[in-house]
Formats: sequence, structure tokens, C-alpha cells
Amino acid sequence: MIQLTSAATLEKAINKARTVKPLVRVAKFGRYTVTNKQTGATYTVECMKREGKRFAHCTCKAGERGQACYHLASAVAAHIQLATERAQLNF
Ligand SMILES: [Zn+2]
Repeated sequence: MIQLTSAATLEKAINKARTVKPLVRVAKFGRYTVTNKQTGATYTVECMKREGKRFAHCTCKAGERGQACYHLASAVAAHIQLATERAQLNF
């Protein structure tokens, strides 16, 4: 589990995600599966908000060690987009 404080936290992971271009699927709001299309490896990423702080967690080895992996960065990007769309629908 890592806390999402600033974009800099995810910068390296975002760059990796741009190279790998993984497939992100929405399981439900806040829960995503991220697949590396080259290897077929799939991991689950959960995004959550606790006491106003944003956290995310990935099931891969790096994620279990609390590192920001590209799965997490990809899922967070999808989550932000989804949250923005939801906010616009609930005006
Ligand atoms: Zn991961």
C-alpha cells in the first residue's frame, strides 16, 4: 500500500506505463485489473480514500513491497478519469 501524495511519487511508474502500455480493466469503481499484453501477467490494483488521503495497492511483487509499480500508475490514471466522469455526472 502506498500513499499518493504527489505526481512525483508515480513519475517513474508513469513513464514505465507509457512504454509497456498495459491493458486496464475496471472490475468496479476503485478496483482494476492491469494486464501486461506482452507477458499476459495480470495484477489487481485497488484505489481507496481514507481520512482524505489517497492510497493505492497492487498485488505484484513490487506492490507488495510498497513500491509504485506501473500497474498502480496505470490504474490510478484510470481511477482519476473515472472519478472525474462520476463527479461530472453527479452535479
Ligand atoms: Zn504492480
